[in-house]
Amino acid sequence: MPTNCKCETPPFHFLDFDQEVVGEERYGAEVFLEKCAVCGRTWLKYLVEEPHYSRSGRWWRVPVQSDQIAIISAETARAFIERQPWCFVGGSYFDSTGHLVRAPIKIV
Ligand SMILES: [Zn+2]
Repeated sequence: MPTNCKCETPPFHFLDFDQEVVGEERYGAEVFLEKCAVCGRTWLKYLVEEPHYSRSGRWWRVPVQSDQIAIISAETARAFIERQPWCFVGGSYFDSTGHLVRAPIKIV
């Protein structure tokens, strides 16, 4: 469960992470791996933005163990996140700068 590093304490700030673009999923979501600059933990971020719809921005982020990073791709990210016991979600769609949710996780 979350402790108290910046990477586990919303709202998150991009300067606290080293971001790597994984790619764009076929549904149009953007997938990133973000390494916390403080504790070194890697997070998977799944970002949906539909520019034609207001308040559509939404994201999910889950921690990724180092031995799981290799299985992350743009196409596996959604299923990976939905299998986790908890995650952070946020964005204008949820009217949230980030909050914790527990399984079952459903990406919408
Ligand atoms: Zn951290």
